[in-house]
Amino acid sequence: MRTSQWSMAALTAMAVAAVSISVLPLPSAADHAAAPHWSYSGDTGPTHWSTMDPAFSACATGATQSPIDLVSSTAKAGKAGEFHIDYEKGTVSVVNNGHTEQANVSDPKDTVAFDGDTYRLAQFHFHTPSEHTTDGKRFPLEIHFVNQNDRKKIVVVGVLVELGKKNDSLAALFSHLPASGEKAATESKPSVSVDLASVLPRNHEAYVYSGSLTTPPCSEGVRWIVLSHPIQMSQDQIHSFSKIFPDNHRPLQKANGREVDDETE
Ligand SMILES: [Zn+2]
Repeated sequence: MRTSQWSMAALTAMAVAAVSISVLPLPSAADHAAAPHWSYSGDTGPTHWSTMDPAFSACATGATQSPIDLVSSTAKAGKAGEFHIDYEKGTVSVVNNGHTEQANVSDPKDTVAFDGDTYRLAQFHFHTPSEHTTDGKRFPLEIHFVNQNDRKKIVVVGVLVELGKKNDSLAALFSHLPASGEKAATESKPSVSVDLASVLPRNHEAYVYSGSLTTPPCSEGVRWIVLSHPIQMSQDQIHSFSKIFPDNHRPLQKANGREVDDETE
């Protein structure tokens, strides 16, 4: 689909969504209005991202791209207490930005302490199937919690989702997912209640590594904390997302010798 076919409302919301996950320098609104429309298949799919816009060059030339396969046997035991995730119960507004369903978070109390710095949760969104794999295993869904510090550095907490019982913590959100045809005009009002603390697995053991955004512009310098214990969602819940976005995952990237630490909070 060409950019010209997108409504102004969709472009505006895409710009808002993109700004919240960008690494410095933050692109201007004008940059986004002119940005080409990327997708997950065909001639605007992942293998073409780097040639669609000079700003997307890292998608092809970057040496520390995400996602990667996380290999448990080679994971090193990391320093305990290097990170701490503190998410709480709150309300979010959900936007279909044309690439995923994104829940925007405005509660400044949702934070990740990492490496002596505080990162605030800006938004979370979903990919199906999962982008990261563990020992080659792919999951039906992956949630990305995008956190940013005062210097716009990004820490993403990845949560893998396996097929299982209905997830009550996400039930309200998944019953409100705006369909693709509605695009961004359908930011949910009133806000949807989500108990973020209970969305995460109880055990915060994680794979920690340096990577990138998994969407254009594929900016590097992103710290990843992928929790090693999956959570569960029902087939109906997963389908309520996949019927809107049947496949919005970026293929695995080369690890290029990166170290992945296996750490516990
Ligand atoms: Zn993501």
